[in-house]
Amino acid sequence: MEHRVYNFSAGPAALPLPVLESAQKELLNFGGCGMSVMELSHRSKTFRGIYNAAVEDLRTLMDIPENYRILFLQGGGTLRFSMVPLNLMVQGKADYILSGAWSEKAWEEGRKFGSAQVIASSRDIQFTDLPDLSSLPIREDADYVYICENETIHGTAYAGLPDTKGKPFVSDQSSMFLSKPCKVSDYGLIFAGVQKNVGPAGMAVVIIREDLIRKDPDPAIPTYLRYDVHSRADSMYNTPNCWSIYLCGKVFRYLLDQGGLSAMETRNREKAKFLYDYLDSSRLFHGIAQRSHRSLMNIPFTSGFSLLDSRVIQRCREAGLVELTGHRSLGGLRASLYNAMPLEGVKALVACLESFEKELPQEGISCGS
Ligand SMILES: *Cc1c(COP(=O)(O)O)cnc(C)c1O
Repeated sequence: MEHRVYNFSAGPAALPLPVLESAQKELLNFGGCGMSVMELSHRSKTFRGIYNAAVEDLRTLMDIPENYRILFLQGGGTLRFSMVPLNLMVQGKADYILSGAWSEKAWEEGRKFGSAQVIASSRDIQFTDLPDLSSLPIREDADYVYICENETIHGTAYAGLPDTKGKPFVSDQSSMFLSKPCKVSDYGLIFAGVQKNVGPAGMAVVIIREDLIRKDPDPAIPTYLRYDVHSRADSMYNTPNCWSIYLCGKVFRYLLDQGGLSAMETRNREKAKFLYDYLDSSRLFHGIAQRSHRSLMNIPFTSGFSLLDSRVIQRCREAGLVELTGHRSLGGLRASLYNAMPLEGVKALVACLESFEKELPQEGISCGS
């Protein structure tokens, strides 16, 4: 490859080019300190500066209230599935909304630590749509209500949040973090594995309301899995993922320069609409998720024929449009349109799909859907 491609991967995913270029410029000698960020002590004043700027910029970007802590923790999104129940299940009860593979994984993990009850599920329809949340049987003594707001594999997303009757809302925002404005005060805890929409893999951002950080947690909880330990140490209880924090910080700054999260939402809506409009009018391809709850970030679609799907994936790859193979559980194609994917990339994708469709003999097509 001589040129950069349009990368539609669900994660690790594309990063904004200006961010990569800026990191490249600073790679050998960051800010005149004579070394790269990868070689820098996490206890140094220089890294402190990087860390503080990242935290402050994220606070500004999401307008995070003062009574919420921002943590950068290792173990990606997945370690949150156990860290959340370990720390937040005070009475040993949590209510889970199952809308796809990721919330199901979190629930499976939550069950290990207490009574994790499913209060809504769309598993019976293979998660092609979201469960109805209009009258959730939330338990009186539930410690939290768990949701995954954008199901990366199935391509579904909630437009709004249900009433949790005062229970803290725990949300997995991994695949839609920073894609649109977010009212943080509606939540008890928000987390996101950063490699989907923010930065390099191996880290998660956790935004947690201070009163949910227990001062005297169960002594059996491994030290490293305690929110109070990481909170007291400003995410530096041990050596953090300095490189990821540095790049995430650059992305926060980039997003602020781009006009913040409202500007992102406008762009993301425009991008997703462009692809959905094509899919809705195509005689060959159709979206897999129910229209009413379609994700702006992850768009699974198919022709209904695996041979045609793999041929069009190949055609796209030759045109520099890569990572379009659908998740192995669904097949077909999946285009992830995170913040770093420009509208031009989506237009190039639709042009490629259109030309593929036009070349097919017209008689044989409609029997696929
Ligand atoms: C990818 C993903 C995860 C897991 O993230 P890792 O960083 O790979 O552990 C969790 N939740 C959602 C919604 C995801 O898309």
